[in-house]
Amino acid sequence: MTKYCPACGEEVVDHARFCKNCGAGLEEGAVGRKPQMPEVKKSYTLHIIAGYILALLFALLGLIMGIYLLTRRDSKKANRHGLYIVIIALIMMLWSFARFIF
Ligand SMILES: [Zn+2]
Repeated sequence: MTKYCPACGEEVVDHARFCKNCGAGLEEGAVGRKPQMPEVKKSYTLHIIAGYILALLFALLGLIMGIYLLTRRDSKKANRHGLYIVIIALIMMLWSFARFIF
């Protein structure tokens, strides 16, 4: 059975006591399963760029993308831009609504 380091997710040999990658101690029970999220940070850069463009062109789609970014738990940057995108999308919606009325 392949084991994985519980600290960094690196594959380790069966009898290893310490991870060769990060040096973490490999306790019984802690190894043997792959951690849910090895330390891979998502950037969401493309989502953020698409969100701004959508917010300006298609307010409703921008709003959806903004909310998507706002609810990501693994990126503070995505949350911050998600908030801006939601605000821009709402302004664009109000603006087009006001233009429709007057
Ligand atoms: Zn490790």
